Amino acid sequence: MDADSEFVFELQVCQWAERDWPPERARPILIARQLGTKRRRWDTIVVECDPDALETRARFGRERLDSDLLDVLRHAPEEWAWYRDALPDPGYPWRYVRESIHRADDREILETRTRGNRLQIRRRWAYPDWVERIVAIENKPDFDASAARALTDQLQRDVAVGLADEVWVATAGGREQFERALLEDVPVEVGILLVEGRDAEAIWQPRSLSPEQPGTRIEQRPDGGERDASAARFSYVDPDWKREKRLAIAERAYERGFRSYVGTMRPDCRHFELDDVPAGFLPHCDAKSCHQTASECRGGCPEYEPEPPTWRTGGWPIDGGPGAGVRRLLERQRLRTRPGLEE
Ligand code: SF4
Repeated sequence: MDADSEFVFELQVCQWAERDWPPERARPILIARQLGTKRRRWDTIVVECDPDALETRARFGRERLDSDLLDVLRHAPEEWAWYRDALPDPGYPWRYVRESIHRADDREILETRTRGNRLQIRRRWAYPDWVERIVAIENKPDFDASAARALTDQLQRDVAVGLADEVWVATAGGREQFERALLEDVPVEVGILLVEGRDAEAIWQPRSLSPEQPGTRIEQRPDGGERDASAARFSYVDPDWKREKRLAIAERAYERGFRSYVGTMRPDCRHFELDDVPAGFLPHCDAKSCHQTASECRGGCPEYEPEPPTWRTGGWPIDGGPGAGVRRLLERQRLRTRPGLEE
């Protein structure tokens, strides 16, 4: 399967998950693409949220809160206090904490004042505990024997670390491929999802992992060759590290969602279209007659042609032209899953 199809498959999985994940769910969810840690990036992330806390999270704005801001906001006091009395020792110089305090003040999510040369802070709102579960999905439209072999090692590492609550593989292949995946020793903890157009079926249920427990990082393992007598190396993964990483992933998912691809594409090109297919909206290039990838749909694309200026003026039915209309449409869809945020 080519890159075009993998990109399209990824959007299909995201759109299915936003609509139907999981069928019996009662919790709101956020979907994002290509998020993870420095060492591991997943194709699709599902963040299951506490409904009231998710709405409270909106008070902190649509942009993510990075770990430095979270360090301040999660400990900001209800009453005015000198910031060094109120916050735990950060383990890095206090001047960086002051920078974070000023950034939070600029975003109007923290109150500050100076008394006797001392910077005081007071919280506007308590930062809510809005993230309930994080589910990681690896998208493999062609889950053949070699894909399964290549992925097995990575999935074993995902299960051992236990950063996500569940790990899945989404495939477009048939049951025969599923059986092959089992034969190739995909860990039994990993769920398998069969995606067909608008629908998906869980053909192997995952086991819940334990993100609140210590995890194991597989640093190195023998390659299995006859002459390889080396031992596997492991390291311990601290639950606090996992808690911080999970929140960082969730905050990025909150900011980006999965429609952020349009931010780097060229919906202002006259050939850019959004196809309304059963699976959802997919970008389509009229000049290339395909679902173009984000990497080819750029200003440097040889076929790029800007929208004619008349499309952006009074004669065109979409305010600002179709490119601006596409951005607004995707942004409105994004906001639907983030209660409390305004357009
Ligand atoms: S011609 Fe190029 S820039 Fe225009 S929509 Fe197609 S891929 Fe994107």
